[in-house]
Amino acid sequence: MREFDFIKAISKKKSVFFNPVIKGIGDDCAILPFNDTHDMIITADSLCEGVHFKKSYFSPWQIGAKSMAVNISDICAMGGIPKYAVVCIGFPGKTGDKYIEMMYSGIADFAENYGIDIIGGDTISSPQINITITVIGLVEKSMALRRDGAKAGDKIFVTGFLGDSHAGLKVLARKGNKKLRDYEYLPVKKHLAVSPRFFEARALLQSGLVNSCMDVSDGIISDITRICDESGTGAVIYADNLPVSYSALKIGADNHEDAAGYALYGGEDYELLFTVAEKNIAKFMKFAALNCVNASQTGVITGKKGIYIKQGAKIHKEDNKKIWNHF
Ligand code: ADP
Ligand code: MG
Repeated sequence: MREFDFIKAISKKKSVFFNPVIKGIGDDCAILPFNDTHDMIITADSLCEGVHFKKSYFSPWQIGAKSMAVNISDICAMGGIPKYAVVCIGFPGKTGDKYIEMMYSGIADFAENYGIDIIGGDTISSPQINITITVIGLVEKSMALRRDGAKAGDKIFVTGFLGDSHAGLKVLARKGNKKLRDYEYLPVKKHLAVSPRFFEARALLQSGLVNSCMDVSDGIISDITRICDESGTGAVIYADNLPVSYSALKIGADNHEDAAGYALYGGEDYELLFTVAEKNIAKFMKFAALNCVNASQTGVITGKKGIYIKQGAKIHKEDNKKIWNHF
């Protein structure tokens, strides 16, 4: 079973709640009522050795920091502010004390940088390193940026560059010469050192102009599919407008591959993917410029279901076999 089918199956089973829930399964975070001014948002993500990272090219500190960063990215995807974390960590008994200490420093340093308090967790022995973190945050009442608000005609935007993380992974996985060329540093950094889009996310929330939003963890095609599933819409992605960096283009060429493919189907960029109604585009562009939100328009939401890719004058249905599949 594919990951998304599995999540759809469990969300069908969980449509009745015993307790107050504003949004359950289906968004970057669950949303719960908190007080008169704020809602509480909760997310959980796991990083597993051999699936999400290899010890050969991640330092223990980077493993810890990334496991916290990907959770903060989900809080940012809702426009919220992270507050608390629960950290569950598993590692083989033979792992050195220094290694574990550095890994935990990565988690704790990243949390401290965002003013997050680690309030609990669990430690177990496991065959590989495995870190699962739950982050709890707050967001202004009823203001959370959700996946389910996209409307037909909305323009699709993405912050920063897409495909760099996948390009960086290509470099890290290279056999033989490991020395980095100048243009390889930024993509490698994007893969190893995730930087959640906190400032951009808060600006998007404050603009009041964003209909839907999520963070790009699995590539724009996979992730726009999730916005569309939640919103009951379709989308056309403009392949010619994808924000692909000079570095990713060079790394693509080195590998005889089109870097647009890294942007469409590569994962782990942790940029923000969001939509704005067409009538608000001029206002939004002005707001984005004043608030230093670097966003590119890369598509449109459609009333017709299905995800299409427009390249030159041609439009074709996306090839979902290429979607990153964890199973
Ligand atoms: P993200 O990529 O933002 O972390 P996911 O694709 O992992 O989001 O998850 C999509 C939705 O499915 C989220 O609301 C998440 O909480 C929910 N989800 C994922 N796995 C499970 C599970 N095993 N049980 C319940 N809910 C889950
Ligand atoms: Mg997410």
